Amino acid sequence: MKSFRCRTCENVLFFENSLCVSCGSALGFSRAERAIVPVEDGQYVDASGAVWHVCANLNVSGCTWLTELEGGTCFACDLTRTRPADTDAEGMSQFPAAEAAKRRLVVELDTRGFPVVGRDEDPESGLCFDMLSSVDQNVVIGHADGVITIDLAESDDARRERVRVDLGEPYRTMLGHLRHEVGHYIEYRLVQGDEVLARCRELFGDDTADYQAEIDRHYDEGPPEDWEERFITTYATMHPFEDFAETFAHYLHISDTVDTAAEQGLVTINPSAFSSFRDLVVGVWVPLSVALNQINKSMGKDDLYPFVIPDPVLEKLEFVASLAGD
Ligand SMILES: [Zn+2]
Ligand SMILES: [Zn+2]
Ligand SMILES: [Zn+2]
Repeated sequence: MKSFRCRTCENVLFFENSLCVSCGSALGFSRAERAIVPVEDGQYVDASGAVWHVCANLNVSGCTWLTELEGGTCFACDLTRTRPADTDAEGMSQFPAAEAAKRRLVVELDTRGFPVVGRDEDPESGLCFDMLSSVDQNVVIGHADGVITIDLAESDDARRERVRVDLGEPYRTMLGHLRHEVGHYIEYRLVQGDEVLARCRELFGDDTADYQAEIDRHYDEGPPEDWEERFITTYATMHPFEDFAETFAHYLHISDTVDTAAEQGLVTINPSAFSSFRDLVVGVWVPLSVALNQINKSMGKDDLYPFVIPDPVLEKLEFVASLAGD
């Protein structure tokens, strides 16, 4: 994620900031300008004279995005189709963290040139989110025809860490869930046409394989012994759809972290100078992630990026990166 500067005082700002700690300006995020802008009395006037308003969900989910509609909600918030009832205190306390991760995801997709088409524009297969509280019901995280379902309990650090250990996963975050699920959405929207589909199947395998049977096989037998030579995670071995989604999540992990590192001066090469994603991974990400893992160790923490990328996964990453438009 790029860093920003306060337009009032030039202080460095980060994506999450709603207030400039240096000059006290209230801030809003403009998706159109992909910038943090100063807000006065809840309003921002852009260069063309258009008036923007802070999203009505500011006090519901901490959203600072701007909307053209006075008293309305922003583009990111409008992607959420279902949220917990106001009376569900636990669900509502978990909601802001999930929404913050979702806003970051939207900016990442915008930055990479992936389409974010809402249900208002495409009621059949546009993107939307059901942010569900599992206080009174069982919620299964997943994607179907553009609808991403998130279990808000995954915002709870203690619970998520327990599940991570139980499942033997090296990494589990809300942002990671969103990146994985949106990977399913991207495959569903963009892997179309004979040539693209054929290349996708060549890399990820035959996606017509019975999904439930493959999942059952995975939970019975575990991953193939040589999975590390071909897959990024054991989860990816379950079914070609899961392999694609895991690969897409890693594509976003890598591209966002490399951009952040470049913005913070940890990487001196401009990431956009690389014509292939594969070269960026080999030339920048691998050494950077080794260094970041060691930095984490210096703080007594686990690896930041506890994964190894074998050659076939480089090919898969190159493919998902190639789906980005401009
Ligand atoms: Zn400022
Ligand atoms: Zn909003
Ligand atoms: Zn999945």
